[in-house]
Amino acid sequence: VRFALLNCCPLEATLTNSTTQRSPCIACNAAAASVVLRGATPRSQGCALLRCSQCGHVYLDGWGTAFDRELYAYYARRVGKTREEVYDEMNTRRQRDLLDWLGARTTGRRLLDVGCGQGQFVDTASSAGWRAFGIDLAKDAIAIARSFGVECREEDFFASTLDGERFDVITMTELIEHVPAPGRFLQRARELLGPGGLLYLTTPNFSSLSRRIMGGEWYPVLPEHLSYFTPRVLCELAVKDAGLELVSAETRNFDPNAALYLAKAASRIVRRRRASNGATERRRGPPASSGAPPPESAAQRLRRLLERSPALRTAKRAVNAGLSVISGVEPSAGA
Ligand SMILES: [Zn+2]
Repeated sequence: VRFALLNCCPLEATLTNSTTQRSPCIACNAAAASVVLRGATPRSQGCALLRCSQCGHVYLDGWGTAFDRELYAYYARRVGKTREEVYDEMNTRRQRDLLDWLGARTTGRRLLDVGCGQGQFVDTASSAGWRAFGIDLAKDAIAIARSFGVECREEDFFASTLDGERFDVITMTELIEHVPAPGRFLQRARELLGPGGLLYLTTPNFSSLSRRIMGGEWYPVLPEHLSYFTPRVLCELAVKDAGLELVSAETRNFDPNAALYLAKAASRIVRRRRASNGATERRRGPPASSGAPPPESAAQRLRRLLERSPALRTAKRAVNAGLSVISGVEPSAGA
């Protein structure tokens, strides 16, 4: 036990925070929490994730309320690229499927994409006949989207310009984990939805098998991700606190990254065994530098393969459905 005694720090606080001062829970503001995971990849910068002892939410220690532009500087490298270089055809196909799913559940076609990034979803939605527009705080992302003629603004979700608007669908893809007030975000969504309106959101699943396998090497463990939701905590925030009604929840417990992680771990064990048996380890030399773009990663390759093969896709769905039942969340029909 280490005591960090600070001037004017009450004794009670130094006793309960036996190691260091920790951030309060980003969901319920409770002070008591314990470290549940530490980032173990270079990009994670060794960040610590805390689990709130009040509501069970997992969040980043040291989370801040300010939007840190530095964390989104990667968009700057894409400014000036062509539409074909920025937008991915595979994503467009998935987005069309999602729009069909949403369209079957609502009659109106007014859509807001919060955290629209480079605007691909807004673009796909507009082409499919939706009256869509997007907002994002990343200036360069908005500049890219606008250069392709996509309807979007550099604007905050709480901006007064949105007050009084009513949308049929609000989408937030991989966004809620970035925001400093996830509960207020969900409440704002409810406020801006018309009667029978739909909120669609995706976020990494902290209780997934992939996270359990990869631990601190799980790819979403990053300093820009302030929240790490389990289905239970997310549903509580959305249903109990924000007053939304759950239409469907789907979890994907296992992804190709975790499969590759396991394959690499297995090959490391095999190599170690061979080395300890005195066998000479043959190593492949570094790839010849040709100035060509870097080859697509093994994870990207596997994903593309899954996308093209109906049989593999079905197998992946079956595995995820089985795991969903095991972890207590029913996969939705149709989603
Ligand atoms: Zn909490």
